[in-house]
Amino acid sequence: MDNIKINRDRLFDLLLRGLPVAFFMVDADLKIIEFNHVAQDLTGWERTEAIGTPCSLVLNSSLCGQLCPLKESARLGKSFVAREAVISNKFGEEIPIIFSSASVLNDKGEMEAGVELFRDASEDSRIQMLRNHIISVFAHDIKTPVAVTGGFVQRLIQGKAGPISPKGLEYLEMIRKENARVEGLIERLLGLLRMEGGQTRLFTEPVSLDAFLYKVLETFRPRADEKNIKIAVETDEHLPILKLDQEQMERVFTNLLDNALKYSPADTTITIKAWKEGRWAIIEVRDQGIGIPPEDLPHIFDYFYRSMLSSGYAQGTGLGLASARAIVEGHGGRIWAKSWPGKGSSFFIRLPIDGSSPKGVIKP
Ligand code: ADP
Repeated sequence: MDNIKINRDRLFDLLLRGLPVAFFMVDADLKIIEFNHVAQDLTGWERTEAIGTPCSLVLNSSLCGQLCPLKESARLGKSFVAREAVISNKFGEEIPIIFSSASVLNDKGEMEAGVELFRDASEDSRIQMLRNHIISVFAHDIKTPVAVTGGFVQRLIQGKAGPISPKGLEYLEMIRKENARVEGLIERLLGLLRMEGGQTRLFTEPVSLDAFLYKVLETFRPRADEKNIKIAVETDEHLPILKLDQEQMERVFTNLLDNALKYSPADTTITIKAWKEGRWAIIEVRDQGIGIPPEDLPHIFDYFYRSMLSSGYAQGTGLGLASARAIVEGHGGRIWAKSWPGKGSSFFIRLPIDGSSPKGVIKP
């Protein structure tokens, strides 16, 4: 028995020393009782001084004051994996981290101990910032020449440089259209970068999810009718109130519905489902379209990513889902997809609930 204990202690010690990520453990009062060397490196606290100190003092995390992940994990009885936060180390340096936390509960459901694993995510965000910076400079640089070209083409069409043959006018019109498409693309890209960089302010207001979905679907129906695609609505009777920037969120749903329409053959059905799950509202947009190959699925929310399958099927920019993700995450939600190639796809959006709406207005 003792042997097992000694081995376990030794193993625990080896594990702590060998772990390539920061680790600490707290007691029921959130005071640190274990602290490994990576945690020392990241926080600047020595193990000896960290032990016995409240973890909020050692971590100074952006979450400590409001939503302690360990207390939350105890309250909800579940662990958190790969969440983001920013800690301020002993030297005042702010470090973005990715962390996972879990609490150990006693028989009465009270927290007895908690563990947290975290790693430095500065490199991830530096790469992302650099990528966004390069794209932004590039988009700004090409914006002016594209606009100037468009202006001159317009003047030529208006005959400001003398008469042009009908064939010439036809070609100029084609140039004007393509030019406008590129201009639109640049605007969308810059808008997306602003949203991702947190520079776009969301003007949120309490909105009944029911009324919101009803409005979006009404504007979408005529286009679905053109392709003889049926829209089925299956929602909870009492949908909740959400805090939404309606204009931005409309873009998200328009994009999902447009895609469902674009990547589905005629005479199929698009189903919208919405329901409440704990503190969240979940909305699903399901189609019976071409589907997304499994190797493409993890990338469809990336900038400019388009599956080979869809490229041969319909035109697109590969920016819609990246924008949708930025907007949904800006609302504190998540967006993800499932797909069955050849049979269809489902897109899910999870949004935090703000209240409860009295009655349903969505009509099938
Ligand atoms: P796009 O303008 O190309 O549609 P999106 O960002 O909206 O750009 O979507 C990215 C890619 O994800 C699409 O090019 C397509 O490959 C895939 N996709 C998105 N929605 C669907 C869908 N409903 N069915 C099949 N593929 C889809």
